Amino acid sequence: MEVLLTAERIHARVTELADEIARDLDGRPVTVVGILTGCLMFTADVIRRIDLPLRVAFITASSYRGETTVPGLLEIRDELLPDIAGRHILLLDDILDTGKTLTRVVAHLIDRGAVSVKVGVLLRKTGRQEVPFEPDYVGFTIPDKFVVGYGLDFNDEYRHLPFIGVLSAGE
Ligand code: 5GP
Ligand code: MG
Repeated sequence: MEVLLTAERIHARVTELADEIARDLDGRPVTVVGILTGCLMFTADVIRRIDLPLRVAFITASSYRGETTVPGLLEIRDELLPDIAGRHILLLDDILDTGKTLTRVVAHLIDRGAVSVKVGVLLRKTGRQEVPFEPDYVGFTIPDKFVVGYGLDFNDEYRHLPFIGVLSAGE
């Protein structure tokens, strides 16, 4: 597998981002909401750098891209989400691709009563975005390739890899 981002580069950049996020929070309590399952490592690494009152919660957002389901349909599940009314949210996701997931999830959180939603993504793919969406924090901008590792999967495999790699055909 071709390594796109080594564990060391990811660690260095995520540390920078987390410090920037903590500075911007300026002492305000925050609820960090991760979008499962891809947010796993990114969320764990970011929150360990933030020395502030903080809650962590998760939601799931699954898009159906298979042949038998409606393309672009997104199912958001938030049974694990505590009451976020009146809270400042930091929403974390693994990758910004078309932008549809994050657009929908931000609207959902506002709908649940969040007062503000800042968005951090580890990766942003170039030339893929279909809906206008500007994340507040971006780890790396990457080429339009299918990547796995550091939380990102292919058929639920490869999430545990400490680096981010490009999956080639046959692997
Ligand atoms: P969007 O709604 O922005 O198109 O989709 C974002 C979601 O698509 C991500 O949270 C992730 O689950 C999935 N995704 C997009 N590109 C990739 C990729 O290169 N690798 C993996 N593993 N997932 C991706
Ligand atoms: Mg995802």
